[in-house]
Amino acid sequence: MYTKKLMEKIKNIIRGHSLFMLHYCTGCGAIELPPTMTSRFDMERLGIAPMATPRQADILLITGYLSAKTLRRVIYTYEQMQSPKWVVGFGSCTINGGIYYDSYSTINELDLYLPVDLYLAGCMPRPEAIINGFERLIEKIENGDADGWKHYKQNREWYKKNQKQALGDSLYTTR
Ligand code: SF4
Repeated sequence: MYTKKLMEKIKNIIRGHSLFMLHYCTGCGAIELPPTMTSRFDMERLGIAPMATPRQADILLITGYLSAKTLRRVIYTYEQMQSPKWVVGFGSCTINGGIYYDSYSTINELDLYLPVDLYLAGCMPRPEAIINGFERLIEKIENGDADGWKHYKQNREWYKKNQKQALGDSLYTTR
């Protein structure tokens, strides 16, 4: 029992320091990523590197508002990722809709549809805030507290109901 716990702890430490990030650049906040990734802020020193495909990615970064149509692609993308996996909502639009809160075509609360492990508040969050947020996420992963992917599996019906409500029958398929 003790050995199992110790092994899990070691695995979490390793996971937390080797993160491939798929950035789904849906909003204006994406413009803060190049300075975060390049030499001044250098995200790679935390062990985070960009990844082009969902199947090898650990983090799904959603960088702003999401239209209902885009939400469907984001859900498919998330479901292709291997567990353990983590979702980061970037900018106020992912938290409460931000300045598009009353738009007919965007969704307001990302965590109704996907399990968000970390929100980065701001419109848009600066690179310092992004680095700080990722440090918090790494801490959570190391401690085994970033378990949104488990929550998604356990509450799949609840997520599916919300997804269907947002997407409607014509936009939703169960594949
Ligand atoms: S939070 Fe602000 S910067 Fe980010 S997508 Fe929304 S409007 Fe754009």
